[in-house]
Amino acid sequence: MLQKNRPDPFPVETPSLVALRGVDKVYSNGVVALKGLDLAVREGELLSLLGPSGCGKSTVLRLIAGLGDLSSGTIEWSNRRGDIGFVFQDPTLMPWATVFGNIYLPLRVRGVPKREAAARIERAMEQVGLAGFGGAYPRELSGGMRMRVSIARSLVAEPKILLMDEPFAALDEITRFKLNDDLLALWASQRWTVVFVTHSVFESVYLSTRILVMSARPGRVAAEVPIAVPAPRDPSFRTSHAYAEHCRIVSAKLAQAMQA
Ligand code: ADP
Repeated sequence: MLQKNRPDPFPVETPSLVALRGVDKVYSNGVVALKGLDLAVREGELLSLLGPSGCGKSTVLRLIAGLGDLSSGTIEWSNRRGDIGFVFQDPTLMPWATVFGNIYLPLRVRGVPKREAAARIERAMEQVGLAGFGGAYPRELSGGMRMRVSIARSLVAEPKILLMDEPFAALDEITRFKLNDDLLALWASQRWTVVFVTHSVFESVYLSTRILVMSARPGRVAAEVPIAVPAPRDPSFRTSHAYAEHCRIVSAKLAQAMQA
């Protein structure tokens, strides 16, 4: 049985970094992507948005990133918004640039000279396990390594919040599991706040401190499931009773949300 009284590591009292209140999003073609969406992202948590394709998960991330207007409702940041890291399913690397050049991009557009940026780029490469690959080109890398470059590129600007839109969905299972573990280790050491979009119950339970299950379109938060299994989570968690039990609970909430 699950330990029902195990404390949530990021309880309601944890300050929220950003909160969406009563958010509606209607696209110009009339599609109502979100309706009355309320969610708060707590500082330091790894929050997953879980739901079927088309339920508005990416729309939520884009609105948090300031890409596109709300149709109604509000987004409130606890402080100045600060830098946001955004990682997509497609690593979208520049094929003509090296790994170093790709990771340099966000600093280059801010006008940081290459010599000044070099130490930060090296550090970001080390963080994601790419030390020594600075001179390689994207075509020489595996899919998993290209995703690491994409993550390093979002880290180099030292964002307060990292938004990840199904980043590992296109990778094979072995690579995905490895990147899941690397993300957990990075998150534990860097103390970021992460919002992670996925349609995988298994991935969301493995990674998250809390899961918000979204309803089918128009999207809203249908259920909240804290995953109060403390770090460090390692591969043995995948075969544990607590993991299976949480997956069962989350699957049931997802099925309910899709019927509602
Ligand atoms: P998810 O990430 O859960 O798959 P999205 O946020 O991408 O969902 O999309 C939610 C809904 O909004 C979908 O029906 C999608 O087709 C629609 N949509 C997304 N972006 C646009 C857009 N730019 N214009 C019109 N409709 C869009």
